[in-house]
Amino acid sequence: MKTFYDLPEELLDEIKTHIDKNQPEFYWDRNDDLNVDDIELLLEEEGFNELSDKIFENNIDYVTTLEDELIDVCIDEFENKINEQLVCEKDDWEEDFKNFCIDYICVNTKVEDLIRRHNNEVFFYETGLVLEDTTYSSDEDIEESLNSIKNTLSITTNEFDEKIKLMICQANYGGNLVVYFYTDLNKILKLQKEENKNIRFSGNVSIAIINTDNGSGDETEIKHTFDLPFVKENLYFEKGIKYNFSFAVCGMIHDWCKDTLFEIVETEEIKEIKNNLSSSLSYDKELSKKWRETGKCTMGDIDFTRHKNVEYINDFPCEHRCKDCGTFWID
Ligand SMILES: [Zn+2]
Repeated sequence: MKTFYDLPEELLDEIKTHIDKNQPEFYWDRNDDLNVDDIELLLEEEGFNELSDKIFENNIDYVTTLEDELIDVCIDEFENKINEQLVCEKDDWEEDFKNFCIDYICVNTKVEDLIRRHNNEVFFYETGLVLEDTTYSSDEDIEESLNSIKNTLSITTNEFDEKIKLMICQANYGGNLVVYFYTDLNKILKLQKEENKNIRFSGNVSIAIINTDNGSGDETEIKHTFDLPFVKENLYFEKGIKYNFSFAVCGMIHDWCKDTLFEIVETEEIKEIKNNLSSSLSYDKELSKKWRETGKCTMGDIDFTRHKNVEYINDFPCEHRCKDCGTFWID
């Protein structure tokens, strides 16, 4: 008796072509979107593929359903032809047919559809300038900070001096000078591929001094156009910062920095730009990554949400303690 694999090469090719033309795609519900971890992952090297794999694995039942649906379509399409060729019944070749199809079916998770839903997100760009704590600063210190900021942002007039000084004083814990903007995630993902260019800010630009250790800071707006060297490492997703200035701390409206415009421009002279934030944020990211990938907590990680078995000990000293790693939080 002939088996499925005795079918002529042409017919097998025809089946493959049919599969290719009808490759299944994820259909995302209108409420589906990416969470903060997903977006952070996307911003990493190879992030798109990793996220796609993660979504695939997390939705394996849906994948199987889509595969089965396509196989059924193919059976309907080719049943008669195969029966004719093999002179037998469907039962005799169905299993082999399914196995054959599976090898050629490639379910598309349509991550790009989810990315498109994030067309309004807050990001910021690190200018490389760090400001000191100003609690005990003299007028000269403030003046010095002002000049460093003006230098960094290529400001040559005095028109923003008062605004900037106020920001320096209000952001009294010091921190990093950054530029805030409100934009499309897709645009950011494209931007990340740029190299050896400048990023040009214009419009009513939201600048801020932020301290990511505690989320404190202050911001102001300047109507000014300036360039900074562009490196993707200096670009940050606001919600990915645990103590983020906009939401976690200030409770800003989501589009507060929408008047900052930016574009990538060619530059003749490639300048350096410092990066101070990445390293201080990287330990936290490391903990997040470990938590995300292994579900294991870390002794000393004070983020409550990254421990599973926290119990409350209602005895002196009252504290929360993680039963897995021993991290404790005293009330
Ligand atoms: Zn723990």
